[in-house]
Amino acid sequence: MAEYEDRYEENAAGRFYVDDMCIDCDQCRQDAPEFFTREDNGGYSYVARQPVTAKEIRLCEAAVDGCPIEAIGDDGPEDPPVFRDANSLAKVDA
Ligand code: SF4
Repeated sequence: MAEYEDRYEENAAGRFYVDDMCIDCDQCRQDAPEFFTREDNGGYSYVARQPVTAKEIRLCEAAVDGCPIEAIGDDGPEDPPVFRDANSLAKVDA
């Protein structure tokens, strides 16, 4: 099961993310190429763009299901804060 705390920093902020368990198998990039891309230097995938429409969300949900090692998370914040207070992780108004 993917861990939000272990996600790659390249992930676009939002609901879906790839964590550091990714084995670079390419499945998610084949299933949902508009949303998953490869970090070539590190050899892993990350979420390049969060889905918006219901159809896009279904594609990303399919990618979650298709990941052989469950490295894709589906529990990130729906409305990610612009930045978080380093101590409390509370949402901070700009
Ligand atoms: S399907 Fe999973 S293991 Fe394969 S590249 Fe995507 S995130 Fe990595």
